[in-house]
Amino acid sequence: MKIWQRALLLFVVVVAVFAVYLIIQVRQLDVEQITDDLHIIRGVGGNTSVLRTDQGAVVVDSMTFPMQGRLIRAKVEALTGQPVALLINTHYHLDHTHGNPGFDTGTSVVATERTLSHLKVLDTDFWEGDAALLLPNDTFSDRKQFQLGNKTVTVIHPGRGHTDGDLIVWFEEDNALALGDLFFNRHYPNIDLEAGGSVQAWPATLDNALALNAEIIIPGHGATTDQQGLRDFQRFMAELATLGKTAAENNESLEKMLADSPLSADAGYEPITMAGIPIGLNRKFVLRRAWEEATGNVELKNPPHQ
Ligand SMILES: [Zn+2]
Repeated sequence: MKIWQRALLLFVVVVAVFAVYLIIQVRQLDVEQITDDLHIIRGVGGNTSVLRTDQGAVVVDSMTFPMQGRLIRAKVEALTGQPVALLINTHYHLDHTHGNPGFDTGTSVVATERTLSHLKVLDTDFWEGDAALLLPNDTFSDRKQFQLGNKTVTVIHPGRGHTDGDLIVWFEEDNALALGDLFFNRHYPNIDLEAGGSVQAWPATLDNALALNAEIIIPGHGATTDQQGLRDFQRFMAELATLGKTAAENNESLEKMLADSPLSADAGYEPITMAGIPIGLNRKFVLRRAWEEATGNVELKNPPHQ
């Protein structure tokens, strides 16, 4: 075999091995039991919460691929012995919504009006054709409550932060709160300024979540924790907000802010990965976003309604 033939063969083998690795990762779902009726499913994408009620299961977020949606649905039925009554999307990002088309047409899909708008405007291509059947069809702006037999599920838009349309889910009887991506536990968060997200508004938004005083706190990414875990993250966001503001007041360049790298509340934080691959959510990224927002160096693609 010639050298180029060997090189080509090696390349094909590497690509094939990587493809198999990705498929295995995407099919992998791990389950954590939180209470008798509440489970978390983890896989490639955001955390999925599953609540069993005696009138069907409530599922929060659907991960990254339609195939995962199908696998999640089967897993939910096995865990709860119930069909899916309600699918809730915490926000529009693909790692929380692209599993939706794996659910049955006709499923009630809950999100905020802003999230529905972002899905249509910022992720248009994916939500064309059959996928559109699983777009949110039960939307609200501030707060909505569902009574499913023995369980009360309240969805609340607590304010801007990760985007301007995120919701949190309060599982009252199980004393648990799922925050979606308003909370990355010990990971650097994505800050989607283009979809109305805000470093400056984020800490006060978390006050509204903390006010519910839930014992169990479920982040969009990272491990399940408690009020203290969420307060630690709030302290990190507050430090970031102050740094952005100070840089803007002092006309400090982005280069200087990145070179000084003055954060301290991120001790122990790790960049997030998907299927083992870093996706650019690190200290530099959050500092840059804080600077961009505070100095007005950002162009909103889907500006918030005033
Ligand atoms: Zn997100």
